Amino acid sequence: MGSKKPLLIANWKLHHSKASAGDFFERVVPVIAAVKHVDLAIAPVALMLDFSVQKLCKSSIKVAAQNVFYEEKGAFTGEWSVAQLREIGVSMAIVGHSERRSIFKESDSDVAKKARACLLGGLTPIICVGESLKERDEGQLEAVLNRQCQLVMEHIKDLDGEIIFAYEPLWAIGTGRSASAKEADEAHGIIFKILDKRPAKVIYGGSVKADNIREIVAMPHVDGALVGGASLQVESFLSMVKELNKNELD
Ligand code: PEP
Repeated sequence: MGSKKPLLIANWKLHHSKASAGDFFERVVPVIAAVKHVDLAIAPVALMLDFSVQKLCKSSIKVAAQNVFYEEKGAFTGEWSVAQLREIGVSMAIVGHSERRSIFKESDSDVAKKARACLLGGLTPIICVGESLKERDEGQLEAVLNRQCQLVMEHIKDLDGEIIFAYEPLWAIGTGRSASAKEADEAHGIIFKILDKRPAKVIYGGSVKADNIREIVAMPHVDGALVGGASLQVESFLSMVKELNKNELD
């Protein structure tokens, strides 16, 4: 794994009840106490953010929101703000997940505004980008990443603060077909070029599991993983942590 400390973020999407999340935390927190070489975050559904912060505040696992709105307050029924997330102890927010882009019609501009709002309010944005299979097949990978990332970079150029990009090719999310380690590394290389020396982490997402996480995260341009399906069960979550933290847990 080299000397980097990988970041593993669990995206629970619309899964887990309060009872099952509580059980997950109770089983995972004592094990994680011995993990020194992996940074961890969990993104539960919004209704469970407060509860998750309470349960995880004594552990090193951070809590991330799956979404956030860019306005501070006002007539925006169904939304929540960066300040409200900060108030309950959330430290990161996923913005522009492909499910938000495709199902809820979020635009590149919405995503860029959300990333800016996060930095202004002291949240770390986890900005999701990635191409469809059609775009990849048509040789559009670099153009898509340029379009998605550059707009974000323009919106945040005057702001400091930690940023994370998650490269999540649409054809790999929830499909069981991960990008190869080489494909992920190439795409991350494109993103780092766009970042032009601004410090950031670039993590990979799309059908990551215990079997492939180590190979992908070992690549030079890959700083960690954003994981959906394989992060839901305690056993598979801990298997991935163990893969990334090998010597520590063995
Ligand atoms: C995701 O939703 O961010 C994701 C990567 O999902 P999965 O791991 O299930 O492909």
